[in-house]
Amino acid sequence: MSRVAVIGGGWAGIAAAVTLADAGHHITVFEMAPQLGGRARSVAGEPPYDNGQHILIGAYRDSLALMRRLGVAPEQVLQRLPLALPYPDEAGLRLPPGPPLVAFARGVLAHRGWPLSARLGLLMAAAGWLARGFQCADTLSVAALCARLPRDVNRDLVEPLCVAALNTPASQASAQVFLRVLKDALFSGAGSADLLLPRRPLSELLATPATAWLGERLRLGTRVHGIEPGWRVDGEAFDAVVLACTSTEAARLVAPLDADWAATAQSLRFEPIVTVYLHSPGSALPAPMLALREGPDAPAQFVFDHGQLGGAAGRFAFVVSGAAPWVASGGCAEAVLAQAQRELAWATPPVIDKVLTEKRATFACTPGLARPPARIAPGLWAAGDYVAGPHPATLEAAVRAGMAAAQGAGADAGGWGTGANGAASGSPTNTP
Ligand SMILES: Cc1cc2nc3c(=O)[nH]c(=O)nc-3n(C[C@H](O)[C@H](O)[C@H](O)COP(=O)(O)OP(=O)(O)OC[C@H]3O[C@@H](n4cnc5c(N)ncnc54)[C@H](O)[C@@H]3O)c2cc1C
Repeated sequence: MSRVAVIGGGWAGIAAAVTLADAGHHITVFEMAPQLGGRARSVAGEPPYDNGQHILIGAYRDSLALMRRLGVAPEQVLQRLPLALPYPDEAGLRLPPGPPLVAFARGVLAHRGWPLSARLGLLMAAAGWLARGFQCADTLSVAALCARLPRDVNRDLVEPLCVAALNTPASQASAQVFLRVLKDALFSGAGSADLLLPRRPLSELLATPATAWLGERLRLGTRVHGIEPGWRVDGEAFDAVVLACTSTEAARLVAPLDADWAATAQSLRFEPIVTVYLHSPGSALPAPMLALREGPDAPAQFVFDHGQLGGAAGRFAFVVSGAAPWVASGGCAEAVLAQAQRELAWATPPVIDKVLTEKRATFACTPGLARPPARIAPGLWAAGDYVAGPHPATLEAAVRAGMAAAQGAGADAGGWGTGANGAASGSPTNTP
Protein backbone atom coordinates (compact mmCIF):
# COMPACT_ATOMS: atom_id res chain seq x y z
CA MET A 1 0.00 0.00 0.00
CA SER A 2 1.47 3.40 -0.91
CA ARG A 3 1.88 6.11 1.70
CA VAL A 4 0.74 9.65 0.97
CA ALA A 5 1.18 12.67 3.23
CA VAL A 6 -1.42 15.42 3.23
CA ILE A 7 -0.08 18.64 4.71
CA GLY A 8 -2.92 20.91 5.87
CA GLY A 9 -6.40 20.01 7.04
CA GLY A 10 -8.66 22.69 5.60
CA TRP A 11 -11.41 21.72 3.17
CA ALA A 12 -8.81 21.03 0.44
CA GLY A 13 -6.78 18.75 2.71
CA ILE A 14 -9.86 16.92 3.94
CA ALA A 15 -11.03 16.38 0.34
CA ALA A 16 -7.57 15.12 -0.62
CA ALA A 17 -7.35 12.79 2.37
CA VAL A 18 -10.78 11.26 1.81
CA THR A 19 -10.16 10.81 -1.93
CA LEU A 20 -6.79 9.14 -1.31
CA ALA A 21 -8.10 6.91 1.48
CA ASP A 22 -11.05 5.84 -0.66
CA ALA A 23 -8.60 4.91 -3.42
CA GLY A 24 -6.79 2.61 -1.01
CA HIS A 25 -3.78 4.71 -0.09
CA HIS A 26 -2.37 4.87 3.40
CA ILE A 27 -2.63 8.52 4.42
CA THR A 28 -1.26 10.74 7.15
CA VAL A 29 -2.73 14.23 7.57
CA PHE A 30 -0.51 16.85 9.21
CA GLU A 31 -2.37 19.89 10.53
CA MET A 32 -0.59 22.58 12.50
CA ALA A 33 -3.73 23.86 14.24
CA PRO A 34 -5.37 21.98 17.10
CA GLN A 35 -8.39 21.32 14.86
CA LEU A 36 -9.30 20.65 11.23
CA GLY A 37 -11.20 23.10 9.03
CA GLY A 38 -8.63 25.81 8.26
CA ARG A 39 -10.38 29.06 7.42
CA ALA A 40 -13.79 27.32 7.37
CA ARG A 41 -14.10 26.36 11.03
CA SER A 42 -15.90 27.36 14.18
CA VAL A 43 -14.31 29.44 16.91
CA ALA A 44 -15.11 29.29 20.61
CA GLY A 45 -18.38 30.78 21.79
CA GLU A 46 -21.71 29.66 23.15
CA PRO A 47 -22.98 28.68 20.65
CA PRO A 48 -19.73 28.74 18.63
CA TYR A 49 -19.08 31.52 16.13
CA ASP A 50 -18.06 30.79 12.58
CA ASN A 51 -14.63 32.03 11.60
CA GLY A 52 -16.50 34.27 9.18
CA GLN A 53 -19.99 33.69 7.89
CA HIS A 54 -19.88 31.23 4.99
CA ILE A 55 -22.43 30.73 2.19
CA LEU A 56 -22.52 27.71 -0.08
CA ILE A 57 -24.57 27.52 -3.27
CA GLY A 58 -26.28 24.63 -5.02
CA ALA A 59 -23.46 24.47 -7.57
CA TYR A 60 -21.05 23.28 -4.82
CA ARG A 61 -21.67 19.68 -5.82
CA ASP A 62 -18.31 18.25 -4.80
CA SER A 63 -18.49 19.88 -1.37
CA LEU A 64 -21.98 18.47 -0.82
CA ALA A 65 -20.85 15.02 -1.96
CA LEU A 66 -17.88 15.17 0.41
CA MET A 67 -20.16 16.06 3.31
CA ARG A 68 -22.36 13.08 2.47
CA ARG A 69 -19.30 10.83 2.24
CA LEU A 70 -18.47 11.80 5.84
CA GLY A 71 -22.00 11.05 7.00
CA VAL A 72 -23.30 14.63 7.02
CA ALA A 73 -26.75 15.24 5.51
CA PRO A 74 -26.57 18.62 3.73
CA GLU A 75 -30.36 18.94 4.03
CA GLN A 76 -30.01 18.96 7.81
CA VAL A 77 -27.05 21.29 8.22
CA LEU A 78 -27.81 23.74 5.42
CA GLN A 79 -30.89 25.84 4.74
CA ARG A 80 -31.61 25.89 1.01
CA LEU A 81 -33.21 29.11 -0.27
CA PRO A 82 -33.87 30.24 -3.84
CA LEU A 83 -31.38 32.95 -4.82
CA ALA A 84 -32.69 36.26 -3.51
CA LEU A 85 -30.96 39.52 -2.69
CA PRO A 86 -33.50 41.39 -0.55
CA TYR A 87 -32.47 44.76 0.90
CA PRO A 88 -33.94 46.22 4.10
CA ASP A 89 -36.04 48.64 2.05
CA GLU A 90 -36.92 46.57 -1.06
CA ALA A 91 -37.55 43.00 -2.16
CA GLY A 92 -34.56 42.98 -4.55
CA LEU A 93 -33.81 40.31 -7.14
CA ARG A 94 -35.49 36.97 -6.44
CA LEU A 95 -35.24 33.93 -8.71
CA PRO A 96 -38.50 31.95 -8.97
CA PRO A 97 -38.38 28.14 -9.18
CA GLY A 98 -37.74 26.53 -12.56
CA PRO A 99 -34.92 26.03 -15.05
CA PRO A 100 -32.17 28.52 -14.15
CA LEU A 101 -32.10 30.41 -17.47
CA VAL A 102 -35.84 30.96 -17.43
CA ALA A 103 -35.84 31.70 -13.69
CA PHE A 104 -33.13 34.32 -14.17
CA ALA A 105 -35.07 36.05 -16.95
CA ARG A 106 -38.31 35.93 -14.97
CA GLY A 107 -36.62 37.13 -11.80
CA VAL A 108 -35.00 40.10 -13.55
CA LEU A 109 -38.20 41.08 -15.35
CA ALA A 110 -40.16 40.91 -12.07
CA HIS A 111 -37.68 43.16 -10.22
CA ARG A 112 -39.89 46.19 -9.55
CA GLY A 113 -37.05 48.15 -7.94
CA TRP A 114 -35.37 48.63 -11.33
CA PRO A 115 -36.78 50.59 -14.28
CA LEU A 116 -37.72 48.42 -17.27
CA SER A 117 -34.73 49.75 -19.22
CA ALA A 118 -32.39 48.47 -16.49
CA ARG A 119 -34.02 45.05 -16.49
CA LEU A 120 -33.79 44.76 -20.26
CA GLY A 121 -30.21 46.04 -20.21
CA LEU A 122 -29.18 43.28 -17.80
CA LEU A 123 -30.96 40.59 -19.81
CA MET A 124 -29.26 41.75 -23.02
CA ALA A 125 -25.86 41.75 -21.32
CA ALA A 126 -26.49 38.27 -19.90
CA ALA A 127 -27.54 37.03 -23.35
CA GLY A 128 -24.26 38.40 -24.73
CA TRP A 129 -22.23 36.63 -22.03
CA LEU A 130 -24.08 33.42 -22.76
CA ALA A 131 -23.51 33.79 -26.52
CA ARG A 132 -19.75 34.21 -25.91
CA GLY A 133 -19.66 31.11 -23.71
CA PHE A 134 -18.98 33.20 -20.59
CA GLN A 135 -15.52 34.03 -21.91
CA CYS A 136 -13.86 37.43 -22.03
CA ALA A 137 -10.40 38.95 -22.18
CA ASP A 138 -8.31 37.80 -19.23
CA THR A 139 -7.25 41.39 -18.56
CA LEU A 140 -10.78 42.76 -18.11
CA SER A 141 -12.10 43.86 -14.70
CA VAL A 142 -15.70 43.25 -13.59
CA ALA A 143 -16.29 47.01 -13.55
CA ALA A 144 -15.11 47.24 -17.19
CA LEU A 145 -17.19 44.21 -18.21
CA CYS A 146 -20.30 45.79 -16.69
CA ALA A 147 -19.54 49.43 -17.46
CA ARG A 148 -22.51 49.76 -19.78
CA LEU A 149 -24.99 48.16 -17.40
CA PRO A 150 -27.40 50.55 -15.69
CA ARG A 151 -26.14 51.99 -12.40
CA ASP A 152 -28.94 50.30 -10.41
CA VAL A 153 -27.93 46.88 -11.71
CA ASN A 154 -24.28 47.43 -10.89
CA ARG A 155 -25.08 48.75 -7.40
CA ASP A 156 -27.72 46.17 -6.43
CA LEU A 157 -26.44 43.05 -8.17
CA VAL A 158 -23.02 43.11 -9.82
CA GLU A 159 -21.04 44.81 -7.05
CA PRO A 160 -22.44 42.79 -4.10
CA LEU A 161 -22.26 39.50 -6.02
CA CYS A 162 -18.72 40.24 -7.14
CA VAL A 163 -17.39 41.11 -3.72
CA ALA A 164 -19.24 38.17 -2.14
CA ALA A 165 -17.99 35.61 -4.65
CA LEU A 166 -14.50 36.93 -5.46
CA ASN A 167 -13.83 38.90 -2.24
CA THR A 168 -12.45 41.60 -4.51
CA PRO A 169 -14.12 44.92 -5.40
CA ALA A 170 -15.58 45.05 -8.94
CA SER A 171 -13.06 47.69 -10.01
CA GLN A 172 -10.18 45.27 -9.26
CA ALA A 173 -11.84 41.88 -9.82
CA SER A 174 -11.31 39.48 -12.72
CA ALA A 175 -14.22 39.56 -15.18
CA GLN A 176 -13.31 36.09 -16.47
CA VAL A 177 -13.60 34.52 -13.01
CA PHE A 178 -16.82 36.47 -12.33
CA LEU A 179 -18.36 35.16 -15.56
CA ARG A 180 -17.41 31.64 -14.52
CA VAL A 181 -19.19 32.12 -11.18
CA LEU A 182 -22.31 33.34 -13.00
CA LYS A 183 -22.13 30.41 -15.39
CA ASP A 184 -21.82 27.89 -12.56
CA ALA A 185 -24.53 29.50 -10.46
CA LEU A 186 -27.08 30.43 -13.05
CA PHE A 187 -26.58 28.18 -16.01
CA SER A 188 -25.47 24.75 -14.81
CA GLY A 189 -28.55 22.82 -13.76
CA ALA A 190 -31.53 23.11 -11.48
CA GLY A 191 -30.84 24.45 -8.01
CA SER A 192 -27.29 25.60 -8.81
CA ALA A 193 -28.02 29.19 -7.83
CA ASP A 194 -29.77 28.26 -4.58
CA LEU A 195 -28.22 29.68 -1.45
CA LEU A 196 -27.21 27.09 1.13
CA LEU A 197 -26.85 28.77 4.51
CA PRO A 198 -25.27 26.86 7.42
CA ARG A 199 -27.74 25.94 10.17
CA ARG A 200 -25.04 24.42 12.35
CA PRO A 201 -21.65 25.75 13.49
CA LEU A 202 -19.28 25.73 10.51
CA SER A 203 -17.03 22.96 11.86
CA GLU A 204 -19.97 20.55 11.94
CA LEU A 205 -20.29 20.75 8.15
CA LEU A 206 -16.97 19.01 7.50
CA ALA A 207 -14.16 19.47 10.02
CA THR A 208 -15.68 17.64 12.98
CA PRO A 209 -16.95 14.62 11.02
CA ALA A 210 -13.62 14.47 9.16
CA THR A 211 -11.76 14.37 12.48
CA ALA A 212 -13.75 11.31 13.52
CA TRP A 213 -13.44 9.71 10.08
CA LEU A 214 -9.66 10.15 9.88
CA GLY A 215 -9.02 8.94 13.42
CA GLU A 216 -5.40 7.90 13.93
CA ARG A 217 -4.44 9.00 10.44
CA LEU A 218 -4.63 12.58 11.68
CA ARG A 219 -1.79 14.45 13.41
CA LEU A 220 -3.20 17.65 14.85
CA GLY A 221 -0.95 20.37 16.21
CA THR A 222 1.83 19.22 13.89
CA ARG A 223 3.39 21.87 11.69
CA VAL A 224 5.47 20.51 8.83
CA HIS A 225 8.83 22.27 8.65
CA GLY A 226 10.41 20.78 5.56
CA ILE A 227 10.01 18.44 2.60
CA GLU A 228 12.85 16.64 0.91
CA PRO A 229 12.73 14.98 -2.49
CA GLY A 230 12.03 11.33 -2.31
CA TRP A 231 9.67 12.16 -0.47
CA ARG A 232 10.40 12.93 3.16
CA VAL A 233 8.17 15.05 5.34
CA ASP A 234 10.20 16.23 8.32
CA GLY A 235 12.29 13.11 7.77
CA GLU A 236 9.41 10.63 7.44
CA ALA A 237 9.20 8.67 4.15
CA PHE A 238 6.18 8.90 1.84
CA ASP A 239 5.51 7.91 -1.76
CA ALA A 240 3.76 11.19 -2.54
CA VAL A 241 2.78 14.44 -0.85
CA VAL A 242 -0.27 16.68 -1.19
CA LEU A 243 0.49 20.19 0.00
CA ALA A 244 -2.89 21.43 1.20
CA CYS A 245 -1.60 24.24 3.38
CA THR A 246 -1.94 27.95 2.67
CA SER A 247 -0.18 29.42 -0.34
CA THR A 248 2.40 31.19 1.83
CA GLU A 249 3.27 27.99 3.69
CA ALA A 250 3.32 26.03 0.44
CA ALA A 251 5.71 28.61 -1.05
CA ARG A 252 8.00 28.26 1.98
CA LEU A 253 8.03 24.45 1.79
CA VAL A 254 8.49 24.32 -1.99
CA ALA A 255 11.12 27.08 -2.28
CA PRO A 256 14.11 24.70 -1.98
CA LEU A 257 12.51 22.30 -4.50
CA ASP A 258 11.03 24.54 -7.22
CA ALA A 259 11.83 28.24 -6.98
CA ASP A 260 9.51 29.24 -9.85
CA TRP A 261 6.49 27.52 -8.37
CA ALA A 262 7.25 29.02 -4.96
CA ALA A 263 7.65 32.50 -6.45
CA THR A 264 4.26 32.30 -8.16
CA ALA A 265 2.59 31.14 -4.95
CA GLN A 266 4.39 33.80 -2.97
CA SER A 267 3.28 36.56 -5.35
CA LEU A 268 -0.44 36.18 -4.57
CA ARG A 269 -1.90 39.16 -2.73
CA PHE A 270 -4.68 38.80 -0.20
CA GLU A 271 -7.99 40.45 0.61
CA PRO A 272 -9.34 40.54 4.17
CA ILE A 273 -12.86 39.74 5.33
CA VAL A 274 -14.20 41.19 8.56
CA THR A 275 -17.17 39.54 10.25
CA VAL A 276 -18.86 41.66 12.88
CA TYR A 277 -21.28 39.81 15.14
CA LEU A 278 -23.88 42.10 16.68
CA HIS A 279 -26.27 41.15 19.44
CA SER A 280 -29.78 42.58 19.61
CA PRO A 281 -32.15 40.52 21.77
CA GLY A 282 -35.65 40.19 20.35
CA SER A 283 -34.68 41.55 16.93
CA ALA A 284 -35.04 39.66 13.65
CA LEU A 285 -34.50 40.30 9.96
CA PRO A 286 -37.32 39.91 7.42
CA ALA A 287 -35.27 37.08 5.84
CA PRO A 288 -32.33 34.90 7.03
CA MET A 289 -30.01 36.97 4.82
CA LEU A 290 -30.25 40.58 3.65
CA ALA A 291 -28.05 42.52 1.26
CA LEU A 292 -26.90 45.93 2.46
CA ARG A 293 -25.76 48.93 0.45
CA GLU A 294 -22.05 49.43 0.95
CA GLY A 295 -20.76 52.98 1.13
CA PRO A 296 -18.08 55.21 2.65
CA ASP A 297 -19.69 54.92 6.10
CA ALA A 298 -21.37 51.52 5.52
CA PRO A 299 -18.85 48.67 5.40
CA ALA A 300 -21.10 45.57 5.39
CA GLN A 301 -22.55 44.08 2.21
CA PHE A 302 -24.61 41.31 3.84
CA VAL A 303 -26.18 40.48 7.19
CA PHE A 304 -27.30 37.05 8.43
CA ASP A 305 -29.85 36.39 11.16
CA HIS A 306 -28.57 33.39 13.12
CA GLY A 307 -31.86 33.17 15.00
CA GLN A 308 -33.44 32.10 11.71
CA LEU A 309 -30.56 29.75 10.92
CA GLY A 310 -30.73 27.37 13.85
CA GLY A 311 -28.35 29.48 15.94
CA ALA A 312 -28.57 32.01 18.74
CA ALA A 313 -31.62 34.28 18.55
CA GLY A 314 -30.57 37.93 18.46
CA ARG A 315 -27.14 37.15 16.95
CA PHE A 316 -26.43 38.77 13.59
CA ALA A 317 -23.34 38.29 11.40
CA PHE A 318 -22.41 41.33 9.30
CA VAL A 319 -19.99 40.52 6.49
CA VAL A 320 -17.45 43.01 5.16
CA SER A 321 -15.74 41.44 2.14
CA GLY A 322 -12.95 43.15 0.21
CA ALA A 323 -12.26 44.83 3.54
CA ALA A 324 -8.72 46.11 2.87
CA PRO A 325 -9.62 49.83 3.25
CA TRP A 326 -11.43 49.17 6.54
CA VAL A 327 -8.61 47.06 7.93
CA ALA A 328 -6.19 49.86 7.00
CA SER A 329 -8.28 52.68 8.46
CA GLY A 330 -9.72 50.89 11.51
CA GLY A 331 -13.15 51.52 12.98
CA CYS A 332 -14.85 48.81 10.94
CA ALA A 333 -16.92 47.31 13.77
CA GLU A 334 -18.11 50.71 14.99
CA ALA A 335 -19.09 51.67 11.43
CA VAL A 336 -21.00 48.38 11.06
CA LEU A 337 -22.80 49.10 14.33
CA ALA A 338 -23.83 52.53 13.06
CA GLN A 339 -24.86 51.02 9.70
CA ALA A 340 -27.07 48.48 11.50
CA GLN A 341 -28.69 51.15 13.65
CA ARG A 342 -29.39 53.32 10.58
CA GLU A 343 -30.59 50.64 8.18
CA LEU A 344 -32.33 48.11 10.40
CA ALA A 345 -33.90 50.34 13.05
CA TRP A 346 -34.18 47.58 15.66
CA ALA A 347 -36.12 48.38 18.83
CA THR A 348 -33.27 46.96 20.94
CA PRO A 349 -30.08 48.84 20.10
CA PRO A 350 -27.46 46.29 18.99
CA VAL A 351 -24.12 45.87 20.70
CA ILE A 352 -20.88 44.50 19.29
CA ASP A 353 -20.59 40.87 20.29
CA LYS A 354 -17.47 39.67 18.45
CA VAL A 355 -15.25 40.89 15.62
CA LEU A 356 -13.29 38.42 13.50
CA THR A 357 -10.76 39.82 11.05
CA GLU A 358 -9.16 37.39 8.59
CA LYS A 359 -6.44 39.48 6.97
CA ARG A 360 -5.64 36.73 4.48
CA ALA A 361 -9.19 35.55 3.90
CA THR A 362 -8.67 34.82 0.19
CA PHE A 363 -6.29 35.76 -2.60
CA ALA A 364 -7.19 38.98 -4.41
CA CYS A 365 -8.89 37.70 -7.56
CA THR A 366 -7.56 40.23 -10.05
CA PRO A 367 -7.48 40.13 -13.88
CA GLY A 368 -4.74 38.08 -15.52
CA LEU A 369 -3.61 36.61 -12.22
CA ALA A 370 -0.92 33.90 -12.41
CA ARG A 371 -1.77 31.12 -9.96
CA PRO A 372 0.58 28.20 -9.32
CA PRO A 373 -0.35 24.87 -10.94
CA ALA A 374 -1.47 21.84 -8.95
CA ARG A 375 1.40 19.62 -10.09
CA ILE A 376 4.73 20.73 -8.67
CA ALA A 377 6.80 17.61 -9.38
CA PRO A 378 6.16 13.90 -9.79
CA GLY A 379 4.70 12.87 -6.45
CA LEU A 380 4.33 16.44 -5.17
CA TRP A 381 0.98 18.16 -5.69
CA ALA A 382 -0.59 21.33 -4.36
CA ALA A 383 -4.21 21.65 -3.26
CA GLY A 384 -6.00 24.73 -2.03
CA ASP A 385 -8.38 27.43 -3.12
CA TYR A 386 -5.47 29.35 -4.68
CA VAL A 387 -4.13 26.79 -7.18
CA ALA A 388 -4.62 27.52 -10.89
CA GLY A 389 -8.21 27.11 -11.98
CA PRO A 390 -11.23 28.99 -13.26
CA HIS A 391 -12.81 29.59 -9.85
CA PRO A 392 -12.30 32.19 -7.13
CA ALA A 393 -11.23 31.18 -3.61
CA THR A 394 -14.21 29.24 -2.30
CA LEU A 395 -14.96 26.08 -0.38
CA GLU A 396 -15.85 24.35 -3.63
CA ALA A 397 -12.61 25.44 -5.28
CA ALA A 398 -10.70 24.07 -2.29
CA VAL A 399 -12.55 20.74 -2.39
CA ARG A 400 -12.06 20.33 -6.13
CA ALA A 401 -8.40 21.19 -5.82
CA GLY A 402 -8.05 18.62 -3.04
CA MET A 403 -9.66 15.91 -5.11
CA ALA A 404 -7.59 16.72 -8.19
CA ALA A 405 -4.32 16.76 -6.25
CA ALA A 406 -5.26 13.47 -4.59
CA GLN A 407 -5.85 11.86 -7.97
CA GLY A 408 -2.49 13.12 -9.24
CA ALA A 409 -0.55 12.18 -6.13
CA GLY A 410 -2.33 8.84 -5.89
CA ALA A 411 -1.47 7.99 -9.48
CA ASP A 412 2.14 9.00 -8.90
CA ALA A 413 2.37 7.03 -5.66
CA GLY A 414 0.69 3.97 -7.06
CA GLY A 415 2.74 3.98 -10.24
CA TRP A 416 6.24 4.41 -9.02
CA GLY A 417 6.62 5.49 -5.42
CA THR A 418 8.77 3.96 -2.78
CA GLY A 419 6.75 2.14 -0.19
CA ALA A 420 6.82 2.80 3.50
CA ASN A 421 9.56 0.22 3.80
CA GLY A 422 11.66 2.11 1.27
CA ALA A 423 11.35 -0.46 -1.55
CA ALA A 424 11.36 1.15 -4.98
CA SER A 425 8.40 0.34 -7.19
CA GLY A 426 9.42 1.52 -10.59
CA SER A 427 9.63 5.30 -10.80
CA PRO A 428 11.45 6.97 -13.67
CA THR A 429 12.41 9.68 -11.19
CA ASN A 430 11.00 10.97 -8.00
CA THR A 431 13.05 14.09 -7.61
CA PRO A 432 11.59 17.38 -8.73
C1 LIG B 1 -14.05 35.11 6.66
C2 LIG B 1 -14.16 34.20 5.47
C3 LIG B 1 -15.36 34.05 4.81
C4 LIG B 1 -15.46 33.21 3.71
N1 LIG B 1 -16.68 33.06 3.11
C5 LIG B 1 -16.81 32.10 2.16
C6 LIG B 1 -18.10 31.80 1.64
O1 LIG B 1 -19.11 32.39 2.03
N2 LIG B 1 -18.18 30.81 0.69
C7 LIG B 1 -17.09 30.14 0.25
O2 LIG B 1 -17.24 29.24 -0.57
N3 LIG B 1 -15.86 30.42 0.72
C8 LIG B 1 -15.70 31.38 1.66
N4 LIG B 1 -14.45 31.65 2.17
C9 LIG B 1 -13.29 30.98 1.58
C10 LIG B 1 -13.07 29.57 2.14
O3 LIG B 1 -13.08 29.59 3.56
C11 LIG B 1 -11.72 29.09 1.66
O4 LIG B 1 -11.67 29.15 0.26
C12 LIG B 1 -11.42 27.64 2.07
O5 LIG B 1 -11.71 27.43 3.43
C13 LIG B 1 -9.95 27.35 1.77
O6 LIG B 1 -9.64 26.03 2.16
P1 LIG B 1 -8.17 25.47 1.96
O7 LIG B 1 -8.19 24.08 2.45
O8 LIG B 1 -7.74 25.74 0.57
O9 LIG B 1 -7.22 26.38 2.88
P2 LIG B 1 -7.20 26.59 4.48
O10 LIG B 1 -8.58 26.55 5.02
O11 LIG B 1 -6.42 27.83 4.71
O12 LIG B 1 -6.42 25.32 5.04
C14 LIG B 1 -5.02 25.25 5.09
C15 LIG B 1 -4.65 24.45 6.33
O13 LIG B 1 -3.26 24.18 6.31
C16 LIG B 1 -2.77 24.29 7.64
N5 LIG B 1 -1.32 24.49 7.54
C17 LIG B 1 -0.67 25.58 7.05
N6 LIG B 1 0.65 25.37 7.07
C18 LIG B 1 0.85 24.13 7.57
C19 LIG B 1 2.03 23.36 7.85
N7 LIG B 1 3.26 23.82 7.57
N8 LIG B 1 1.88 22.13 8.40
C20 LIG B 1 0.64 21.65 8.68
N9 LIG B 1 -0.49 22.34 8.44
C21 LIG B 1 -0.39 23.58 7.89
C22 LIG B 1 -3.55 25.46 8.22
O14 LIG B 1 -3.54 25.45 9.64
C23 LIG B 1 -4.94 25.22 7.62
O15 LIG B 1 -5.73 24.42 8.46
C24 LIG B 1 -14.32 32.52 3.25
C25 LIG B 1 -13.10 32.66 3.91
C26 LIG B 1 -13.01 33.49 5.02
C27 LIG B 1 -11.70 33.62 5.71
